[in-house]
Amino acid sequence: MKKRILTGDRPTGKLHIGHYFGSLQNRVKLQDEYEQFILVANVQALTDNFDNPGKVRESILELLCDYYAVGIDFEKSTVFIQSEVKQIHEIFVYLSNFVTVQQISHNPTIKTELAQKGMEESTPLGFFMYPVHQAGDILAVNADLVPVGKDQAPMVESCRDLARKFNDTYGVKVLHEPQALFGVEKNVPGIDGNAKMGKSLNNCIYLSDSEEELKAKVMKVYTDPKRIHATDPGTIEGNVAFVYHDLFNENKEEVEELKKRYMAGTVGDVEVKEKLFVAMNKVLGPIREKRREAEGLKDDLLKRALVGSKKVSEIAEGIVDQMKEAMKIKF
Ligand code: ATP
Ligand code: MG
Repeated sequence: MKKRILTGDRPTGKLHIGHYFGSLQNRVKLQDEYEQFILVANVQALTDNFDNPGKVRESILELLCDYYAVGIDFEKSTVFIQSEVKQIHEIFVYLSNFVTVQQISHNPTIKTELAQKGMEESTPLGFFMYPVHQAGDILAVNADLVPVGKDQAPMVESCRDLARKFNDTYGVKVLHEPQALFGVEKNVPGIDGNAKMGKSLNNCIYLSDSEEELKAKVMKVYTDPKRIHATDPGTIEGNVAFVYHDLFNENKEEVEELKKRYMAGTVGDVEVKEKLFVAMNKVLGPIREKRREAEGLKDDLLKRALVGSKKVSEIAEGIVDQMKEAMKIKF
């Protein structure tokens, strides 16, 4: 039997290059080798967008188009919609006995996200609990592997903890402890220099951006703020233009030469960025083309995701049964 992957995204907007390197590339690479489940986390998206359900609903179709555009094969991978799989919420309730409020408060990702969203003083309970709900997603199919970005590392760790505690408490082996798989060692930074590009942070290069949008964004990418003239020696560390060069530019010699010249003060930002645009457009151009094709397939992709949801519900029902048996609440 193939091992299982569970991964997914929040329908809070279109997908960006952080998703591409953090998780999407691994999904495409592994969809033959693994039984892959891809979650459209619309219930989780509502935890911090409950007052904007239209955005969440519309973003589902955008996500599906982005999946198609990067090469996710809807025949090989099971794409599904979280709100269609009620068992996830049931598993979440059972798991919530195995974590404390204090543990979640100390979760570094929750801390960062609460600060970013201005929710430190008044935290919606739904949002606060999302690490446990997300463990419900993963354990609903008892996934072995979870391809995610670095920001999600503490969430996968917390899921492993929950699975272990559940099994140990009842002396069973019902839940698997999943492994995280990171596409990149650090989150892909935003064009504004923020350590994370994020849909909710307004600092993204989207997979669906037109060539003109891409060019305009590349020209605005954060570089070395201390450098005023092209003849000033510049810094590579924390320089987003070079982070993107390392990710996109296949011509490694060109990148090394640009870095040397940048540090010596013999190349301007404009040349670095013009070359970056060419390298990025080479990767993003074909994705953009395929996405255009996906626009005409929206209805079909949604239908497939609904069929996928039924399949996941059946698998999850089996896990729920075993959990209830262990907790002596099965009648
Ligand atoms: P939001 O701002 O609404 O949280 P997001 O951009 O963080 O949106 P998510 O849907 O939360 O996107 O994340 C989906 C997946 O993409 C997760 O595995 C996450 O770790 C990964 N990911 C998101 N942003 C980045 C990034 N900048 N670099 C690498 N991986 C990322
Ligand atoms: Mg996020």
